[in-house]
Amino acid sequence: MNVYDSARMAEILAPLGYAPGDSPEDADMVILNTCHIREKASDKVYSELGRLRKIKAARAEEGQQTVIAVAGCVAQAEGEEMLRRAPYVDIVLGPQTYHRLPEMVARAHRASMAGDHAGVLLDTDFPIESKFDHLPPKRTESGVSAFLSIQEGCDKFCTFCVVPYTRGAEFSRPVAQIVAEAESLVAGGVRELTLLGQNVNAYHGLDAAGDEIGLGALARQLAGIDGLARIRYTTSHPRDVDDGLIAAHGEVEALMPYLHLPVQSGSDRILEAMNRGHDAESYLRTIDRLRAARPDLAFSCDFIVGFPGETDADFEATLDLIRTVEYAQAYSFKYSSRPGTPAAGMARQVPEDVKDERLARLQALLGEQMTAFNEASRGTSCEVLFERAGRHEGQLVGRSPYNQAVHVTAPGYAVGDMATVFIETCKTHSLGGVLPEDGRPVPDRHAEERLSA
Ligand code: SAH
Ligand code: SF4
Repeated sequence: MNVYDSARMAEILAPLGYAPGDSPEDADMVILNTCHIREKASDKVYSELGRLRKIKAARAEEGQQTVIAVAGCVAQAEGEEMLRRAPYVDIVLGPQTYHRLPEMVARAHRASMAGDHAGVLLDTDFPIESKFDHLPPKRTESGVSAFLSIQEGCDKFCTFCVVPYTRGAEFSRPVAQIVAEAESLVAGGVRELTLLGQNVNAYHGLDAAGDEIGLGALARQLAGIDGLARIRYTTSHPRDVDDGLIAAHGEVEALMPYLHLPVQSGSDRILEAMNRGHDAESYLRTIDRLRAARPDLAFSCDFIVGFPGETDADFEATLDLIRTVEYAQAYSFKYSSRPGTPAAGMARQVPEDVKDERLARLQALLGEQMTAFNEASRGTSCEVLFERAGRHEGQLVGRSPYNQAVHVTAPGYAVGDMATVFIETCKTHSLGGVLPEDGRPVPDRHAEERLSA
């Protein structure tokens, strides 16, 4: 979502004459768009700011101004504190107020001209009006695959998580606004959309008739846009997988058979302490129902190890759940204590070395599953959407339905084309394939499942 937000900030600043630059040394303005989700991400901001301070001072000696802005969730969480720690920062703004950037930049300039750095600006409230109503219409992008934010914020308050405090309350953009943005992206050459939200499947936006619709219904509408080939969405919450979304996975061809559905832990005790609102059993039932609707669906997941009070038995339950589901991809993290969240004050924090050991075991198991998933692609065929040129003559790199990178020698094809590709090789981070025109057989990976269905 920060990638999406940063692109929109660049757009809103373009009419003021700003364009993305290559290095901070040459920049009239630097915006750090920050992440507060784990301590490491937050810490990076201050080390980056230290670097920018020196650049700003050096540029000032040359008579050049540098506006430093800190946006995103660290800015939201720290606010005034950030200005105390880094007084050379000109603008601090939260994730829900960046539509006001032009006005803030103008004021920062005026303050700086007047030699009045005390005029540091802070805009971290949660406005009643949505920033999306104030941003200019999304400009077309040249890429094949684009992000589109449809939902923001979170009302779930998992005990480890800062999102409800930094992104604010859950909010869904209206359907018409999303469809217009999607159409404009597709008109500019985009063929794949990834719908974004902190809880993307909690989506309940208003349609033209003033009725709330869910993510399944939204995906059906977007799938009707001529030229849009693929729809993905992230991040979804197990609690919000409803019948409409499950049915859409079975019926909407453009909805890719690959779903990021974080569970965090396989232990019911820990899931309860996390306030996740689901247990391991109900998560597994959701996976079964999704697989019944779309047998070739593959899953990815997020895990946290070392949540306060996590015992060896709790951790083993997580490993058991992983063995049951068999993931195609996963992201795993050591629990990071976040100021202001309930878990930060919980007893029985897990020592760092235990977290390290658990993370290594978890990642070893997940690594085996990811390798097995990619290996299973070899000898099958799949649709590949080409995203960019490869390193070799005539080579293109694209994505499989499972988001795997696929390298193909495909003279005559262009970025944005799709092709059925026979997968021959499997490396750690990518697959290699050939086109059927090469005279290879094109077996259908899911022929058997389809026949039996
Ligand atoms: N809304 C999504 C997750 C958003 S945060 C969901 O509920 O699943 C992205 C991921 O960061 C989470 O899935 C979680 O695994 C991780 N995360 C969030 N807070 C964390 C913390 N305090 N320590 C470690 N990992 C954390
Ligand atoms: Fe954070 Fe996701 Fe829980 Fe919301 S549902 S509090 S975003 S982990």
